[in-house]
Amino acid sequence: MENDKNYWWYTILIYFIISAVVFLIVYPFIVPKPVELLITFLIILGTGFLVGMFSAYILTPMAFWRRYKPLPVLPIELQNRVDELIRKAGIKKPKFFIYDSPELNAFTYSSVFGPRIVITSGLLEAYNTGKISEDEFSAIIGHEMGHIKHRDSLRGGIAMSWVAIINGFGTYLIFLGFMFLGIGTIETFFSRDEENALITILIGIVSIVLGFVMKILAKLISLIALHHSRIMEYQADAFGAYLTSNIYMADALKKLEDYNNSLATKNLGYSPYPEGWQVPPVKQTWIDRIFSTHPPTEKRIERLVGKNMSSTPS
Ligand SMILES: [Zn+2]
Repeated sequence: MENDKNYWWYTILIYFIISAVVFLIVYPFIVPKPVELLITFLIILGTGFLVGMFSAYILTPMAFWRRYKPLPVLPIELQNRVDELIRKAGIKKPKFFIYDSPELNAFTYSSVFGPRIVITSGLLEAYNTGKISEDEFSAIIGHEMGHIKHRDSLRGGIAMSWVAIINGFGTYLIFLGFMFLGIGTIETFFSRDEENALITILIGIVSIVLGFVMKILAKLISLIALHHSRIMEYQADAFGAYLTSNIYMADALKKLEDYNNSLATKNLGYSPYPEGWQVPPVKQTWIDRIFSTHPPTEKRIERLVGKNMSSTPS
């Protein structure tokens, strides 16, 4: 078993890089006295950390509140297996929820009341009809327990915080810009003060441009945060494999992808929070991959069982 503490060091490194980038962006706007530079950097670090925590434990659970039904009773052998996994994982007992969807998938999130694991009705159905074995089902749940064990909601929230802040600020500036543009345009028609109207329009245009610049910056910074996200997925796979076995974890991933691909309704992207699912229910182009929260499934399988080893039927 790898050391979980090392996982946090990677998150801290990523977060420092992102904070440094944000620092460089605000640098031209501050008085360059050493003390103020240090304070600015500390404020950036602190703000992102708090926003990340707030997003992981308050905002995300609020978005999912009452969206999913509590999981009905599991088949007894599966319940026993899940209890065994919880013990081996050494985590707080998660609450299980179900999401009505034909795809085979699962995801996890945290809340102040403890960890939550959401599985699709399709996944449970696949177990009940023998499409996936108990071991594969366990590996999928084990992967989610890996996210709980490694506190990935918090780690991901912190890594993503500045992307969300800058992107949100950009949206706000664009909205504000269009408002000014509208007011200025109306002014040119109804007001005699043409100069005033032009200034309002100019403020609007500058605000819109700035807003778009911020959104592009957020997108660029997200490249760093998303790399972090993909590493978290490998780590969760490793944990799922530790709880079950590498073969079961690899088999489970393969089946998730194969079955989801074969579903007629491949526009499963409508699933809420599509990037959170174990195998994202969205089709990816190559450009999507560098902006993806998850590594490609074949890469994940390769890490578990090696390149030349195809998954064994179970
Ligand atoms: Zn995952």
